[in-house]
Amino acid sequence: MKRNFGLVVLITVIASILLLNGLFDKVGTFTTGADYKDINAKGNLILVNKSHPLPEDYVPDDLVKVNVKFNKTATDEEKMMRKEAAFALEKMFMAAERDKIELYGVNGYRSYDTQKQLYDDDSRTKGYSYSEQYDAKPGTSEHQTGLAMDVTNSRYSTNFGETVEGKWLKNNCYKYGFIIRYPIGMENITGYAYEPWHVRYVGVKAAEDIHSRGIVLEQYLNQ
Ligand SMILES: [Zn+2]
Repeated sequence: MKRNFGLVVLITVIASILLLNGLFDKVGTFTTGADYKDINAKGNLILVNKSHPLPEDYVPDDLVKVNVKFNKTATDEEKMMRKEAAFALEKMFMAAERDKIELYGVNGYRSYDTQKQLYDDDSRTKGYSYSEQYDAKPGTSEHQTGLAMDVTNSRYSTNFGETVEGKWLKNNCYKYGFIIRYPIGMENITGYAYEPWHVRYVGVKAAEDIHSRGIVLEQYLNQ
């Protein structure tokens, strides 16, 4: 009888530990889940900038490899985008080719860990003010959304905005649901220097509206 009682106590203790673990797990999942739910609800219109960072553990659930030509430096991770954005980018690159414009992808998706590594490397080698101006602090890069792509030409021009390829991108990307995310003269709103190569997928309707009104995503979303 005494032995049975001990066994019951032991089972109760083990069961309690398992139950408590389960509850803590649920609490943990709930917190993360809420963020994810919020991100997923905003879909292609998610705003990510210096004051709207993504959670450290956010990874889009529908990343696919984009089937376009890439710059030689692009890693497998950088060749990925979310499915809808990837399909739109492929369509845009094909349209460019029909106009005798040759575009190359440089980097699309960038994980939190990659952002952190880049930021730390640039801070060390190029100085803090460089990384502050050109690199996104980990969690604040749009590349983590899987909805952005940096584009270049075969010459990898640093003055991409002045090239025929850069001009084509600026004048046509909205038709495929993309915007030039960091236009010239909008630095005080976007928080980033002019980047004629960085396109962001927002869907055709929003892209057309943003393009025709000459505004940036922050203004479109009224934030
Ligand atoms: Zn970029």
